[in-house]
Formats: sequence, C-alpha cells, structure tokens
Amino acid sequence: MSQQCIFCRIATKEINAGIVYEDAHVVAFRDLSPQAPTHVLVIPKRHVGSLSDMVESDAALLAAMMLAAKQVAIAAGLTGGYRVVTNSGPDAGQSVSHFHLHVLGGRPMSWPPG
Ligand code: 5GP
Ligand code: ZN
Repeated sequence: MSQQCIFCRIATKEINAGIVYEDAHVVAFRDLSPQAPTHVLVIPKRHVGSLSDMVESDAALLAAMMLAAKQVAIAAGLTGGYRVVTNSGPDAGQSVSHFHLHVLGGRPMSWPPG
C-alpha cells in the first residue's frame, strides 16, 4: 500500500470509486473518465507499478485479474464483445502507476488503437 497511490486508496476503500467486482486479490471499479459505455479498471489490491513489475510468482494474480475482467464483462452484459488492455510505461500512455486492466465495451472499436 502506497499512501500516495490513488488506486491503493481505492483498493482499501479510503476513496469511493464505484466498485463493481471484488475478490481476495482484485478490485474492479468504474473509470473516472469513461471512454466507452462500459469502462472498468481491474487492479490488484497489492501495489504493483505496471505489467513490467510483474514476476513469475505473480502468475496466479495475473490470471485472477483476467478472469475478473471476464466477470466484469459478463456482469455488464457485453455479449457483443469487449476489449481488455493495459498501458505499461510512458510510451503506452500509462498515467497511474498502479497496474490496471481497462475493460471497455458497449460500442464498436477500431484497431489499431491510437
Ligand atoms: P492509464 O492511462 O494509466 O492506462 O489509465 C488510468 C485510468 O485511470 C484513466 O482511464 C483515468 O481516467 C483513470 N483514473 C485516474 N484517476 C482515477 C480516479 O481517481 N478514480 C477512477 N475511478 N479512475 C481514475
Ligand atoms: Zn498503488
């Protein structure tokens, strides 16, 4: 837990963020600035900076996050499909240094992303 980290403070519920899914290791909540009708962020409760900081022993946590993303999509009724993406580092545009998956859906999406 980093006191400075906004997502750590959301994970501990010090800050209210509209949590839509939670289990022992993962929390999911609505993005403050949604880029699609459904835009949910899936984070580990433990502070990890980005995908680049994940190591072999985090494999189960990474799997739990992907499965949480699927549960979020089911709960949101995204039967037409959805996108799961993570931005890792400045070139990818990561703006919050606590690892997160974006779950986006509810509209058609183009590829490649900008
Ligand atoms: P990144 O740019 O790091 O991939 O994504 C960070 C995301 O976090 C952005 O989509 C941004 O809108 C969202 N975000 C930043 N601060 C907050 C916050 O305090 N609460 C919530 N719910 N989302 C936030
Ligand atoms: Zn954090």
